[in-house]
Amino acid sequence: MSTAAEAPAETADIVVIGAGFSGIYALHRLRGLEARVVCFEAGDGVGGTWYWNRYPGARVDIESMQYSYSFDEDLQQEWRWPEYFSPQEDLEAYANHVVDRFGLRERIRFSSVVNRLRYDEDENRWHVHTDRGDHVVCRYVVAATGSLDATNIPRWPGVESFGGQSYHTSNWPKEGVDFHGKRVGLIGTGSTGIQVTPVVAETADHLYVFQRTANFSMPSRNRPLDPDYEREWKDNYPERRAKMLQSASAGLFDMPDRSVFDFTPEERERLMEEAWNSRSGFRLMRCFTDTARDIAANDILAEFVRNKIRQTVRDPEVAELLCPNTHPIGTKRICIDSGYFEAFNRDNVTLVDVRTNPITAVTPGGLVTTAGSYELDILIYATGFDAMTGSLTRMNVTGVGGRDLRDKWRDGPTNYLGFLVAGFPNLFMIHGPGSPSVLAQMITGGEWQVDWVVRFIENMEKDGRTRVDTTPDWEDRWAVEMEKAADMTLFKRADSWYMGANIPGKPRVFMMYVGGFDQYIRRCTEQVESGYAGFVRTA
Ligand code: NAP
Repeated sequence: MSTAAEAPAETADIVVIGAGFSGIYALHRLRGLEARVVCFEAGDGVGGTWYWNRYPGARVDIESMQYSYSFDEDLQQEWRWPEYFSPQEDLEAYANHVVDRFGLRERIRFSSVVNRLRYDEDENRWHVHTDRGDHVVCRYVVAATGSLDATNIPRWPGVESFGGQSYHTSNWPKEGVDFHGKRVGLIGTGSTGIQVTPVVAETADHLYVFQRTANFSMPSRNRPLDPDYEREWKDNYPERRAKMLQSASAGLFDMPDRSVFDFTPEERERLMEEAWNSRSGFRLMRCFTDTARDIAANDILAEFVRNKIRQTVRDPEVAELLCPNTHPIGTKRICIDSGYFEAFNRDNVTLVDVRTNPITAVTPGGLVTTAGSYELDILIYATGFDAMTGSLTRMNVTGVGGRDLRDKWRDGPTNYLGFLVAGFPNLFMIHGPGSPSVLAQMITGGEWQVDWVVRFIENMEKDGRTRVDTTPDWEDRWAVEMEKAADMTLFKRADSWYMGANIPGKPRVFMMYVGGFDQYIRRCTEQVESGYAGFVRTA
């Protein structure tokens, strides 16, 4: 499977795959184990998501005082975030700072794509191969491969034939792209497309936004970080970080316990207006507790946002097309924008409805839909990811009996507590399917998962165990619990990447644990306290 000449096998105790935020922390934590650790990273730098997604407008949608590491008090006191919601370059700089500050860089092998991961049951060892010819034989693998890593470009006829410049947003050139005087086509209106639109619109000659599904988006109201606000966080970091782990989202957000129906229409309008205009439009999603579960409550919130779109976009037909009406609000990832809807008031921006008239082909000169063709110089694919599973299934992973992970996951990504897959011993996933993953704040969630895995490995060593697996029965039990949690929400009503619905042929399963990060911690802790129930540990 390797593409370069293969070097003789070397041995290690642990291989970490990925030097994103969780992989970096895993490297740091694993130091304490006195184990030989090797980390492979596909990029030529650290930061994972924040290394790859350097498209114009890329910015995190969780405030940086929270979306940052908690493991080192000096680090969190000293580091200064210039803005509330950090742009990609600040997050990448932070990742680099952490790697250098903690001396982790030399442990990372960059530009090394793991393309084969094979478990040898006689040896109880994993064989890790890369496209550069590395072959490392190790005891444990920590797959910090990210939830949104494997890119998705729909297979339209002619995709390869486009004669202009084309980019997927998660593989953006470091030197940037000049849009001056260019006709630009942007496919996709998820969080990414919504961030790209206003920035590209500023310089492109003309921007065509190809929309299949309109999305709910709220203004980020990003601004320079207020020093008093920063001080207040820094003065209270230990307590706040602890509280974050006691919350459903691994983040601190106001969540008043109230129903939409406790209020008159006028009162609820006032509350929603207040939230919309608050520090972050995102607060709107936490205005009432029942909007995530009750479709009638959800409709009220959704209509409030649709009305905001109608008030913002001057052309009523364009406004209506931008109004989401195919899914309840919050069942697809809520987007946070900086001038998205306003961009459609510009003369150089055209919204193209590719739900009614789907894209049929890419040609050397542009795009063809069932309604017409568009001449383009630059084509941007903001078409998302084979999320949650793609990073592992594309890696050619085989477990006990040579079973291919793709085969094991044919009907959906079975797992136990999001950590282990039955028949794939000693392979730990971070932010994998079955964990809260993207439904919780990912840096804090990743730190907690990494800590859990490292403690698990430490205990294995202490107890003289060398192999841990789970069983299909425990996978089924977790699947039932996951399903129960998802059924209490409206998530399954949307054709989202959460459900695998964006990838043709992918099984339609809600892939994350939506019971809350606090509950997830409780469940993981219980299993360990009950003598590792669900984890089959052998010598
Ligand atoms: P996405 O949410 O999956 O959006 C992909 C877009 O491409 C959708 O509009 C989708 O339409 C469209 N698309 C896909 N296939 C298509 C086809 N065949 N024809 C026409 N349109 C097609 O991907 P994303 O925007 O990259 O975001 C992924 C996730 O990354 C987000 O949900 C979020 O979790 C994360 N993210 C976060 C931030 C942030 O922190 N601010 C920013 C960017 C991304 P349909 O909806 O109809 O499928």
